Amino acid sequence: MNRKLEIVTTELQVITQLRKVAAVLAWDQETYMPSGSAQARSEQISLVLSLAHARFTSDTFRQSLATLVDLDAGTIDKDGLDRRQVRLLENVWHDWRRATALPVEFVGELARLTSQAQHVWQQARAQNDYARFAPYLEKIITMKRQEAGFHGFRDEPYDALLEDYEIGTSTRQIEQLFTGLRPALIELVGRIKSSKAPDRHDLLTQEFPEDLQWEFGMEVLRDMGYDLKKGRQDRSAHPFTTDFHPSDVRITTRLNPNDLSMGLFGTIHEGGHALYEQGLEAEYFGTPLCEAISLGIHESQSRLWENYVGRGLPFWRYYYPRLQARFPDQLRDVPLKDFYAAINTVTPSLIRGEADEVTYNLHIMLRFDLERALLNGDVTVKDLPGLWDQAMAEYLGITPLSVAEGVLQDIHWGMGAIGCFPTYMLGNLYGRQIYEAALEQIDDLEGRIARGDLMTLREWLRDNVHRLGRLKTAGELIQDLTGRPLSAQPFIQYLQAKYERLYAL
Ligand code: ZN
Repeated sequence: MNRKLEIVTTELQVITQLRKVAAVLAWDQETYMPSGSAQARSEQISLVLSLAHARFTSDTFRQSLATLVDLDAGTIDKDGLDRRQVRLLENVWHDWRRATALPVEFVGELARLTSQAQHVWQQARAQNDYARFAPYLEKIITMKRQEAGFHGFRDEPYDALLEDYEIGTSTRQIEQLFTGLRPALIELVGRIKSSKAPDRHDLLTQEFPEDLQWEFGMEVLRDMGYDLKKGRQDRSAHPFTTDFHPSDVRITTRLNPNDLSMGLFGTIHEGGHALYEQGLEAEYFGTPLCEAISLGIHESQSRLWENYVGRGLPFWRYYYPRLQARFPDQLRDVPLKDFYAAINTVTPSLIRGEADEVTYNLHIMLRFDLERALLNGDVTVKDLPGLWDQAMAEYLGITPLSVAEGVLQDIHWGMGAIGCFPTYMLGNLYGRQIYEAALEQIDDLEGRIARGDLMTLREWLRDNVHRLGRLKTAGELIQDLTGRPLSAQPFIQYLQAKYERLYAL
């Protein structure tokens, strides 16, 4: 390898190792750490992360990077480098520029503000008191506008913030996707609401012993090809996936004895995230070539497994008899078609986290519109609860009775994570387009799934998505894999076809 590149990647490996050490500490915090250690642990995590940040933004690293990249323009000195190495450097420069764009004092101030704001948000939500949280949100929006200014942007401040979550995506592109989704989703939700098809969701809220739920989830994870010699599943309050290296990717799940779908689909969802991380190329560890492309592409992998595989009929042709065998008292007399209807029940609900695949993106659209308008100064923090309720009524036909189940339900704004929500919508859309490419390219994919063969799909995803790391951008990946740019159409057509049949519309 080029000597200059070797110096850069060796340092990157050290920086990445520090971040992964923090990830191990955070995993422990969410799973096994005794509750009394919270303060000490948060100091440990923030120390290790600040060491990583200091090395990445140091003069030493700047000088090493400058031997290969024009730090102002981002132009790479390609002499003696292959295409992979050039891509690696382009990504490093991108990340380095983002990390060094903000003054140290600004970062510290924002961290203090959002740490307080999260605390206040919790109390405000518990007491159903928006006025308490509003001044903090006010300050966060002001600082986020400043942050966008430090980074610079093309059309509007939101572009600059989006870049933290979905590299290379513009506000305009998100807006266009929502413009396609909005009328189609509202129309479909309306038709479903007036349908007379029986609601079978009660089938899933019988008593399902947790140990048996756990065993079934593990069976599905193994079949998906989640390597348990390089991963493990534990329980936590909120399910998540974390990775320390492609050889150690962990997931958590949450079980409820009176709700089969929570643990089951949560497990498949995190399993999809985990397959992505296990499929990255370990030889590039420490560099962007061993990293996921973006949050949206990550979410495409979890949603693909959770919804397009796990909520599909072929999957349950194989797994339903197995599930019935574990829960004979609850499911023996329930035909497959009723169970399939139960796991695909559409109910307009107030809470995003509980939304089904038809209504989910409407929750995201509402948040995107509001946070963008806040940033542009088109709406004020004071007006937010009213605008929230108005949009809920327009999109889903329901109105929150309290701010706790309305504008205060998500932690994201209190964390300062403005620009994150659209990645959930993108995940659904990327995932659909990728799944349809797999349907075209894998012979009889759904026949294979119906025979319990999930490995063929995992291998295809590994070859076509996982092992590429950040070699391609999200846009390039979708274009190359599916022959067209990202579009809302495949997702809309999928929903219409599936739910017209399910609800006899
Ligand atoms: Zn996810």
